[in-house]
Amino acid sequence: MTKRIVILPGDGIGPEIVMQAVMVLHEIGDKFNHGFIIDEQMIGEVALDAEGCSLPDKTIAKCKQADAVLLGAVGGDPNINRWKNHPTGDRPEKGLLKIRKELNLFSNLRPAILYSELKDASPLKAEIIGNNLDVMIVRELTSGIYFGKKSRVTDAENDEETYATDELFYSKKEIRRILKTGFEIATKRNNNVVVVDKANVLESSKLWREVTAEVANDFPSVTYSHMYVDNAAMQLVVNPKQFDVIITTNMFGDILSDEASMITGSIGMLPSASLGETTLGLYEPSHGSAPDIAGEDIANPIATILSVAMMFRYSFSMEAEAAAIEAAVGKVLADGYRTKDIYTDGFKLVGTSQMGELICERIVNNG
Ligand code: NAD
Repeated sequence: MTKRIVILPGDGIGPEIVMQAVMVLHEIGDKFNHGFIIDEQMIGEVALDAEGCSLPDKTIAKCKQADAVLLGAVGGDPNINRWKNHPTGDRPEKGLLKIRKELNLFSNLRPAILYSELKDASPLKAEIIGNNLDVMIVRELTSGIYFGKKSRVTDAENDEETYATDELFYSKKEIRRILKTGFEIATKRNNNVVVVDKANVLESSKLWREVTAEVANDFPSVTYSHMYVDNAAMQLVVNPKQFDVIITTNMFGDILSDEASMITGSIGMLPSASLGETTLGLYEPSHGSAPDIAGEDIANPIATILSVAMMFRYSFSMEAEAAAIEAAVGKVLADGYRTKDIYTDGFKLVGTSQMGELICERIVNNG
């Protein structure tokens, strides 16, 4: 089967890590007899430099025609801020927000996975984290308080009465589609969903609960419960192993997914996927463009390589291919190879390209 994949290497370490992920794609193609048409397009600072805009129309058009999109990262050095005087207010990160919107990607999947080989990297105690951790956070991405109406009313006479508002809006349709995505994912995992909200104070959360009860009827194999966000934030550090799939709103998901990723202790390891109504998805590492280490062949490519595994699982429904990539990553770690960000004494230090090659070798040799 031939799949069309658009790659958007982007900025900083993006091109280096995407190159390794593309090698993995080809290795999987050879092993499982799939063809890939790979089309490279621009986004972020490189696009601003070359085309004057962070997301050229051609990139959007090509992504819309693709079966999946693989992104490296966008953004320049945050200490320089080259784009503060851009005439249209464009900046590299706007390209990312825009492509998610253009592709109508309303759900963001951020797994917090701790490989047993890296368990010492977690800031949590061994008895809490156990041997490994695998929590999937499903965050609503295109609605909620970040996209609601905003206002600022200035009181010239009494500045202390100046106020600002941010509307928190969710329609039943928006809630239903993200819940459906999350419940479906649970059926491919351990059939357990926790819907995180603040239903003791927010009307929108009460609506989330009503819609959850309706959606759950279609997923009889899935057990679900509700949890307030303040408790969820606490439970993630007290007993993270209780979670399988967490489904939540845009803002709560933003915060909880960062918290969950940090308890795994390794930013270079975590993939992500953004999905919509169709199988077209955008896959990218959870970290940024790391301009401080760009071009040095020391970035960890594993988050991007695991994003390719998610692409196989969620856009192509090819579980064996996804599992082959994950097994190869596990084997390389078990064999003691580490990039600088996950290195500790006694292990074998390797660079970006060598890590990619080692993973490819293990795909060929079945782990
Ligand atoms: P960052 O994630 O790029 O880097 C944070 C720290 O983690 C740095 O020390 C970096 O060297 C390290 N790091 C990140 N990825 C790594 C990897 N694969 N291997 C080894 N080390 C890694 O976050 P930042 O420094 O806050 O932001 C840098 C730029 O990235 C900014 O322009 C920011 O806007 C952008 N950014 C982009 C995305 C995205 O594209 N999705 C996400 C976050 C930040």
